[in-house]
Amino acid sequence: MIVMKFGGSSVESATAIARVASIVKAREDRRPVVVVSAMGKTTNRLLAIAKAAAEGEQGEALRLLGELKEYHRTEALQIVREQDRAELAQLLDEHFTELSLMVAEIAQVEEFSPRMVDAVSSMGERLSSRIVTLGFRHAGMDTVHVDSRSVLITDTRHTQAAPLFPRTYARMQEVVAPLAAKQVVVMGGFIGSTQNGVTTTLGRGGSDYSASIIGAGIGAEEIQIWTDVDGMLTCDPRIVPGGYRIKTISFAEAAELAYFGAKVLHPATVLPAVEKNIPVLVLNSRNPEISGTRIVKETVPCRNVIKSIACKTGITVVKIQSLRMLMAHGFLHRIFEVFDRFHTPVDMVTTSEVSVSLTIDNDKNLDEIRDELGRIAEVGVETNRAIVCVVGENVRGTPGIAARIFRSLAGINVLMVSQGASQLNFSFVIDATELRPAVESLHAEFFSTLDPEVFA
Ligand code: ADP
Ligand code: ASP
Ligand code: MG
Repeated sequence: MIVMKFGGSSVESATAIARVASIVKAREDRRPVVVVSAMGKTTNRLLAIAKAAAEGEQGEALRLLGELKEYHRTEALQIVREQDRAELAQLLDEHFTELSLMVAEIAQVEEFSPRMVDAVSSMGERLSSRIVTLGFRHAGMDTVHVDSRSVLITDTRHTQAAPLFPRTYARMQEVVAPLAAKQVVVMGGFIGSTQNGVTTTLGRGGSDYSASIIGAGIGAEEIQIWTDVDGMLTCDPRIVPGGYRIKTISFAEAAELAYFGAKVLHPATVLPAVEKNIPVLVLNSRNPEISGTRIVKETVPCRNVIKSIACKTGITVVKIQSLRMLMAHGFLHRIFEVFDRFHTPVDMVTTSEVSVSLTIDNDKNLDEIRDELGRIAEVGVETNRAIVCVVGENVRGTPGIAARIFRSLAGINVLMVSQGASQLNFSFVIDATELRPAVESLHAEFFSTLDPEVFA
């Protein structure tokens, strides 16, 4: 068995879904379980609809909902069999009626609770997985749909739910594996449910994570992440085009890249795969002949010092200074306790004699955090920063890397520096406006020659 996950752009239209069907059909003998994201930008559109409703614009919300239904109907109609048209019409009516009831409820209470966010945003994958199932039948595959909410069981942390692994893996063995032995299984990514059957989601971009949870649960031989780029690249193509494809990379390196902003993979994706030692492949649904990136357990020897450069924008630096920190214990504890209380993860930390700087990428509770920290220290906040992170096994143990990095960054103001404890990465903070030149210079510095074993 293999898991094949297709992201939003891979299922954004009738043409895209037809392409997916032919990719899957060519691999039918490997017993694929197909995991799909919402079609195109559906998740963003659903959230915008709910937001409009919560802000009292119910009319606008319903208008947008109508457009979203029309989009799904138009694309789906082109890829369903004549005899499945009634089923399509019914499933669209059911799902969009449910959505309009939610919109009415949100408009009434003028609030959008995390539980409601999940109910609304789950609709994208609920719809796409049903439509793709019909599309696969049209393409002549014996296909069955499994509602992910009946098998991917999570805790109750709405919008960021964590899977309950023993329960989930047991359900995968009971339900998904036996079906996959006979038919092509299609499931929605991103969504799950609590033990009480309440719909949850795994966080934005979470379909990759679903794919690896399902892969680990059914004991797949391979987890394939099909997306819109040729694989993991040596830099983020949205920042600097022209990066090279990485042919093979280790789980540890891929995890660091994902954590530091390489959107191509959700950061949690590698965890279940590592645990069960299942290789993960990143492939291009528009270019299926290319062999993509293979993510494996073993370290991958490489003549280049680094394998890739990741970056994350929208970073806020919080600077905390207090004379009380001098020779005192418990100070860091008190600082982190505040971030913990406001559910705000800290990415990078540096300390000096009387000050601590740290970075966050979620500034939802920044005002509260600043007030709380203000009771024990002087607090400064800098917004619009970016983290750049170079990753590779060779970062550990190659002398002079920092010097090369700083030399190539000449003229760019580096605000914070950190070498991760894993020693696989070297990261630093700069102003977001300098991101592009910084990544360009680093890319030129580290990838002027390429190890042909590792890069394409
Ligand atoms: P999907 O909808 O298939 O999940 P995403 O948009 O979530 O696709 O992820 C793919 C995108 O990740 C690419 O289009 C690319 O812009 C971005 N990306 C960021 N960093 C990298 C990288 N190092 N290698 C490849 N893609 C990257
Ligand atoms: N549809 C969800 C999102 O847009 C999950 C995913 O695509 O991975 O975040
Ligand atoms: Mg994604």
